[in-house]
Amino acid sequence: MIVDKLGRRFRNLRVSLTAACNYACTYCVPDGKRLMKAQNELSATELLRAVTYLQQAAGIDKLRITGGDPLVTPKFDKFLLGVMQLPLDDVSLTTNGQLLLKKKEVIAESGIGRLNISLDTLNPLRFKQLARGGDLNTVLAGIDAMLELGIKIKINMVPLRNQNARDVLPLLEYCLDRGIELRFIELMQMGHLLHSSTFRAEFFSMASLLDVIGARYEFERTDAPYDSTAVRFSIPDKGVFGIIANESEPFCTSCTRLRLSSDGYLYGCLSSARKQYIGDLLQLPPHQLLPQLQGVLLSALGDKKTAFQGEVTVMKLIGG
Ligand code: SAM
Repeated sequence: MIVDKLGRRFRNLRVSLTAACNYACTYCVPDGKRLMKAQNELSATELLRAVTYLQQAAGIDKLRITGGDPLVTPKFDKFLLGVMQLPLDDVSLTTNGQLLLKKKEVIAESGIGRLNISLDTLNPLRFKQLARGGDLNTVLAGIDAMLELGIKIKINMVPLRNQNARDVLPLLEYCLDRGIELRFIELMQMGHLLHSSTFRAEFFSMASLLDVIGARYEFERTDAPYDSTAVRFSIPDKGVFGIIANESEPFCTSCTRLRLSSDGYLYGCLSSARKQYIGDLLQLPPHQLLPQLQGVLLSALGDKKTAFQGEVTVMKLIGG
């Protein structure tokens, strides 16, 4: 097992199936252009091969399917069904939810138990302004369909001071009513937000969130698993919410994440632009592939930072 001097190792793999997305969220996509694939994206078969060998070489036990939006690519069905056959402890999926109704059958067939759905507002006008694509009611119907299937859902919201901070309580109520855990993600300095005045103007901190929530509910801090990125809070008799507080309470020193982009690059750290191409290795027979992959993983682990500083990498390329 490859472990660094802080005791960190890769356990959690995030696979971006495609860079294409049917949204162009203001904080993620600077030019507002949707549905741009990366050049030379790997096929579902190649991505599954990559996962199989990464699991063996690094000891991956948790996997998250992400994007772009993973549901927009024809690869989705084959990859989801394939990955659910692998001996992983936990497989989850992150999506904006726009295509959940269309993918309901394959999701049910796969047996996946957990979904994270990104939803920044329940207000139709602000939804259009923020996501710059899709339709709010379609997402809400998708969420209902997933709850009917008995799938455990978390909703991810990125609160922005001037765009959707007023939606914090309505979204929290919506989630508490449905037994859904809401996760607030503090805005990260990624892509066009790195060193930008927009980041400073829009950043809505964990302290600000807790002020807003505290005005309505009593809450207390509760447990989170060792390598969880979220600080979790319980509202007695109502439910739980979490905050992924990259800036206010960074979790870099216990990070176990490894990212694979749709065009075959491994990223050891979200806060580093360094990446290693493994698309060519995937053609090798296992006895050659595995030792070479170990070398690449060692280098990727060395890229892990001890503090989050942001990066020029656009989130939709590596899936957050
Ligand atoms: N399309 C899928 C979705 O919407 O969940 C998966 C990819 S998306 C890049 C993953 C998550 O990253 C979303 O919850 C999104 O809100 C979040 N995200 C994107 N850019 C971000 C930023 N600069 N700061 C914080 N979160 C960001």
